[in-house]
Amino acid sequence: MDVDIHCNVIKCRRKLSVEGQACVTSCSHIFCLDCAKRSFDKALVCPACKTNLVEENDDMILVQMNPTEEYKSSVLAGLKPDNILDICTRAIAFYEYQTSQELSFQSLLQKNLQDKYKSLKIEKEKHQDLVNECESEKSKSQQLYQQLQEKSKQFQKLQSVYEKLKRKHIGNNLQETFTTPPAAAPVRPMMTRQFNKSDIVPHRSNASTTRIPSPVKSIYSVRSHHRRFYSSADSTTSNRVP
Ligand SMILES: [Zn+2]
Ligand SMILES: [Zn+2]
Repeated sequence: MDVDIHCNVIKCRRKLSVEGQACVTSCSHIFCLDCAKRSFDKALVCPACKTNLVEENDDMILVQMNPTEEYKSSVLAGLKPDNILDICTRAIAFYEYQTSQELSFQSLLQKNLQDKYKSLKIEKEKHQDLVNECESEKSKSQQLYQQLQEKSKQFQKLQSVYEKLKRKHIGNNLQETFTTPPAAAPVRPMMTRQFNKSDIVPHRSNASTTRIPSPVKSIYSVRSHHRRFYSSADSTTSNRVP
């Protein structure tokens, strides 16, 4: 299985078979032309392993990623078999190294993805627990709401009965008020008491002279005595005239 070779700059990782040309270094790294130009314009240092490179030593060369048939026919032409085999061996070693690096990178990506998947799975379980808890609370809330509605209906019924009883009680009180006769006025004792002759006190204007009272003055004395009696009878019985 052929493994596609990518630019060794982690942030780039372009697929070099699509790019057409690439820059290979003597430290067994390969870069797209953009990354190579941007890095080597600053310094001749490998962007991947920071190895110092020398242009005159062929530490950096351009290679055709999709060589034509003519290029394949002429690139190793004229070389001795030992050199041809040496070049091919080094090219295969370069490919194996890049393949191993790619596999390591893919393994690292897979591990990160698995860790993220585990984290997401845990978060999903927590989310599901929260959803279940929310559903449970929602069910409890609906039950409480139904109970509240039933209690409200019962309260309205009780209030209606209370209002009916209240109106009935007020009606009965009004009916008793209009049908009950008023209480009799208290009988004053003056109307029932019989006067005796002893109640009539003769009027004496002067103790030294004895006079026969005239009928008019005697009657006045009786009335005056009655007035005192009424006042004493209304206040206390101890002051009653014998
Ligand atoms: Zn690149
Ligand atoms: Zn390098």
